[in-house]
Amino acid sequence: MTARILVVDDIEVNVRLLEARLTAEYYEVTGANDGPTALAKAAEMLPDIILLDVMMPGMDGFEVCRRLKEDLATRHIPVVLVTALDGHANRIAGLDAGADDFLTKPIDDVMLFARVRSLTRLKLIIDELREREASGRRMGVIASATSRLGGLGGRVLVVDDNERQAQRILAELNLEHRPVLERDPEKAHLTARGPVDLIIVNATAKAFDGLRFAATLRSDEATRHLPILAVVDTDERSRVVKALELGVNDLLPKPVDPQELLARVKTQIKRKRYTDFLRENLDHSLELAVTDQLTGLHNRRYMTGQLNALVNRAVRGGDAVSALMIDIDHFKKINDSFGHAVGDEVLREFAVRLASNVRAVDLPCRYGGEEFTVIMPDTRIEDAQRIAERIRLHVAGSPFRVAQGEEMLSVTISIGVATTLSEHDSPEALLKRADEAVYEAKSAGRNKVVARAA
Ligand code: GH3
Ligand code: MG
Ligand code: MG
Repeated sequence: MTARILVVDDIEVNVRLLEARLTAEYYEVTGANDGPTALAKAAEMLPDIILLDVMMPGMDGFEVCRRLKEDLATRHIPVVLVTALDGHANRIAGLDAGADDFLTKPIDDVMLFARVRSLTRLKLIIDELREREASGRRMGVIASATSRLGGLGGRVLVVDDNERQAQRILAELNLEHRPVLERDPEKAHLTARGPVDLIIVNATAKAFDGLRFAATLRSDEATRHLPILAVVDTDERSRVVKALELGVNDLLPKPVDPQELLARVKTQIKRKRYTDFLRENLDHSLELAVTDQLTGLHNRRYMTGQLNALVNRAVRGGDAVSALMIDIDHFKKINDSFGHAVGDEVLREFAVRLASNVRAVDLPCRYGGEEFTVIMPDTRIEDAQRIAERIRLHVAGSPFRVAQGEEMLSVTISIGVATTLSEHDSPEALLKRADEAVYEAKSAGRNKVVARAA
């Protein structure tokens, strides 16, 4: 997995050194020697990661970071601040400026590549969500909503068997969040499936393997998106690297520094809320695109896509596909006599009866107006006809209760049935045959099922 990295350092030699090491690992690297140039290049190339030196004359790294995070176009790009060794105060200031991570000079290759890999993965997810989201909505909407998504009041699950350390972490978190402690990883896993914003796991726990716990969360569909912050011993380098490879989002070196704890927790929660927000919006817009709003059935657009795939398979020798075309009889009269709202109620009630009388593999859809279709994969015409008959009876068999139970309407439907031909067939031709069968059913007096063999 390659990435485009912007390396910022006022000392040209440092840029060239990092460039050489990253290029050897097939990353694409661009350099900048001062803050303003870094900002201009970041806006122009939109890199995947920015490695940013803190100590620079003029505009320092904190200021550059702050400006990157203020700009809507660049705020989602992960920034790694490169600080001097022992720069505790610097780390806190950096987290406040919105930095995503730190590396200390001299930069250790193993840590460098582990961090770059883990941030690249994160960036890929955010990019994909942003892209899909942008096609449905303007970025301004996201921006205004995300500015309200803070990093406080988070539900934090602390998984630790070290009582003293756990109590210290809880006491700190209580100031800004709602932490809970769990000493047993199996119980913690269950809790994590509920409403949780962040997991802090002790990767040096004695009673359980914290990394195994992290791996379990990552392999469970219900918890795989949860951010994980691992408490690590930085001397155990191979475990630190392993943690990042497993998909742990961030690390807290032991002993846990209270300010660093709060700053890292805040960053993770903010980011989680941002990706949740993008994901929810996306789910919602996807759902809107395939669902009929009045009845909740699939819409015609969705049906067409599914039908194309099924018919293509059938004509290439796959199983036959059947289609029902259903039209409500004299629906116009219902509208005319009781009003459009009652007409809508009839459509909704019909949709319920339809959906509960087809098999799980069948696709009931609203085709438009008072016309519905059911697509039936792997279904021969005799079976389709039998199901159509069952639907017809369930509609005609008992009246529809509408207008808050004031009216009982008797409703009937006409159904046309068609099945794919073994060769030279198309979705359009199949639906046309089903439609012609409906017409025959209407001519024959309505409340009927007619099947077109070919
Ligand atoms: P037929 O038995 O021949 O099918 O007669 P019909 O009255 O059902 O057929 P027609 O196609 O003449 O009328 C369908 C009516 O359905 C006309 C239209 O106003 C109404 N309609 C279409 N969509 C909706 C809707 O979403 N809600 C309501 N209430 N009515 C709708
Ligand atoms: Mg009609
Ligand atoms: Mg009709």
